[in-house]
Amino acid sequence: MKMLSHYLNGEFSTGQSQRSSPVYNPATGEQSAQVALATADETREAVRIADEAFAAWSKVSPLKRARILFKFKALVEEHTDELARLISSEHGKVFSDAKGEVTRGLEVVEFACGIPHLQKGEHSMNVGSSVDSYSMMQPLGVCAGISPFNFPAMVPMWMFPIALACGNTFVMKPSEKDPSTPLRLAELLKEAGLPDGVFNVVNGDKEAVDVLLTDKRVQAISFVGSTPIAEYIYATASAHGKRVQALGGAKNHMVIMPDADLDQAVGALMGAAYGSAGERCMAISVAVPVGEDTANRLREKLVAELDKLTVGPGLVDGPDNDMGPLITREHRDKVADYIQVGVDEGAELVVDGRQTTVDGAGDGYFIGGTLFDHVTPKMRIHSEEIFGPVLAIARVASFDEAVSMINAHEYGNGTAIFTRDGDAARQYCEQIQVGMVGVNVPIPVPMAFHSFGGWKRSLFGPLHMHGPDGVRFYTRMKTITQRWPSGIREETNHFTMPTM
Ligand code: NAD
Repeated sequence: MKMLSHYLNGEFSTGQSQRSSPVYNPATGEQSAQVALATADETREAVRIADEAFAAWSKVSPLKRARILFKFKALVEEHTDELARLISSEHGKVFSDAKGEVTRGLEVVEFACGIPHLQKGEHSMNVGSSVDSYSMMQPLGVCAGISPFNFPAMVPMWMFPIALACGNTFVMKPSEKDPSTPLRLAELLKEAGLPDGVFNVVNGDKEAVDVLLTDKRVQAISFVGSTPIAEYIYATASAHGKRVQALGGAKNHMVIMPDADLDQAVGALMGAAYGSAGERCMAISVAVPVGEDTANRLREKLVAELDKLTVGPGLVDGPDNDMGPLITREHRDKVADYIQVGVDEGAELVVDGRQTTVDGAGDGYFIGGTLFDHVTPKMRIHSEEIFGPVLAIARVASFDEAVSMINAHEYGNGTAIFTRDGDAARQYCEQIQVGMVGVNVPIPVPMAFHSFGGWKRSLFGPLHMHGPDGVRFYTRMKTITQRWPSGIREETNHFTMPTM
């Protein structure tokens, strides 16, 4: 059995841990590898290596750091197909979607290549007579990233390119469910010329994570995953004096106004709800049609489209399927249980994905596209994140009711409104308590040069990920106020607050 371990100080390390975890191919249910789960001591060793590498790396000029990232970008582009196959074989998503994930990650690398400009700081001359003031943005030290299973390339690339570009060193703790891609990215970073020890990968679970959250040498934690863990990460790492950005779960609504272009809305909704089998934090899981007529028309079109949805392995000869399997058997069973919960709660099950069969899929973790109608806010299938291909229609009578329902939800990651009315769209953008909003755009993931993050219990911490917030997160500002000799010859003591 293939054994996956850690990447420390520029090479693979077999690890000493007695604990490991199986990695599966979700399309077949077969085990493809076993991944080592680091001990606390092994994780401390990774932190030590990153800490030692910081002194030299932080002194490398931003221009040289950017040049390494330019090479890394070229290498990732060259290896995109290989990376996408790796993602698909462990995560299950279809090949074209996996390539899309690599591209979205690469966009952050491209942004980070601009670090000589982004990290320039600020400068003011003559803030007082002969006094100049400037701010420098210095790196923090060792930063750590903890990522979820659903984007094994993109989410780590939300974090480390900017952290490294700013002059930090990094310890990445990927999801133990699909660990191969971050290990491959570590190799590509080395090939691009990154000095050993600057980027390290530790595979593991809570034991490794707890070291990262509490070790004094780690300065910052970037986390993406489920809300209960995000909350734990935020509380624990903050209590240990670290800066933290912890992105959590989601339940994203799409409002369909009576004047929306319904064909466009349905096309968008199909991809947003069922793409990547609904295992996206920005997936739309609740459609909110305004008015009974809109709801009836929407439902009819969705049922027709669901009939055409192709479900199957992520890697096939010929055209891609629309949707692949779920990540694990346990997760598939959890999603199936949620479908039963919806039925028991009294929602109308319009299309039941549990009935979907996939030819030749062996023990793959498939579940088909599922549609509920007449879902209400009190139902668990509305209040909880399912993270599967299950779309709920929650009918409302008015725009205001849609806004109130969404604002009352505990999550606030993404949302969208489909309408032809500029005023409705404008009101929506202003009133909705959600971090990322799409107007006739179903999955409004901000581009790399903007920042990504939700509101409410979808994000703990003040700063969003990548874009300008990413640079702020991975740097510490120091402001120098300086006056040169001609101005300081006077001998007077100053006991009052200095003013210019
Ligand atoms: P998860 O919370 O189970 O795991 C995320 C990471 O935390 C993994 O690396 C895991 O090893 C680690 N972890 C798990 N349990 C832990 C514990 N008790 N202590 C310390 N570390 C622990 O999440 P997942 O199932 O891998 O990913 C799916 C979740 O991630 C969904 O809730 C999804 O909405 C969320 N997500 C959010 C965003 C966002 O941007 N807000 C993006 C992607 C995924």
